[in-house]
Amino acid sequence: MEDITAKNTLCPSARAESEDSFVFGVISGTETAPRLAYLKQPLPVTDELIAKASPVTPTEVFRMATPCASNRCINFDGKDCRLAKQILEKLPAVVEELPPCSIRRDCRWWMQGGKAACLRCPQVITDSYNPSEVTRDIAKDAADMDQQELGKPLYGF
Ligand code: SF4
Ligand code: SF4
Repeated sequence: MEDITAKNTLCPSARAESEDSFVFGVISGTETAPRLAYLKQPLPVTDELIAKASPVTPTEVFRMATPCASNRCINFDGKDCRLAKQILEKLPAVVEELPPCSIRRDCRWWMQGGKAACLRCPQVITDSYNPSEVTRDIAKDAADMDQQELGKPLYGF
């Protein structure tokens, strides 16, 4: 398989339909305390993999990465990812050690928040239909930004 993680700053909260997206983790844990199980090797997004998520959306089950869209993403402020900022400010750390994440070298959130981002990352579900109060706040803030800037986020959670 081609090294799809090479030479790109990666968004760690991508959607299946995003160009070049691949799976780097599977959501496990419980409904109220989801935890990402990190894959040793990223997997390409195939129809077969998407079918495994059915009937829920792939982003409720998998975490996917894709090259960060930077200025084409509503969450990008010209320098940083606002989604990562919100996660750093509003979510608690849920693990004590750096998770064994295969995309760390190129991850936008890691570049921005370092270890603090990684300690919070395992609870993030790109599409959650049972969000905590805090994740609902973050989603609302993202939606507010969306309205202000008359755009549509390419990626989110
Ligand atoms: S949410 Fe947007 S700005 Fe943030 S990492 Fe993903 S693509 Fe980049
Ligand atoms: S924030 Fe850390 S744990 Fe999460 S995807 Fe990026 S490198 Fe991996």
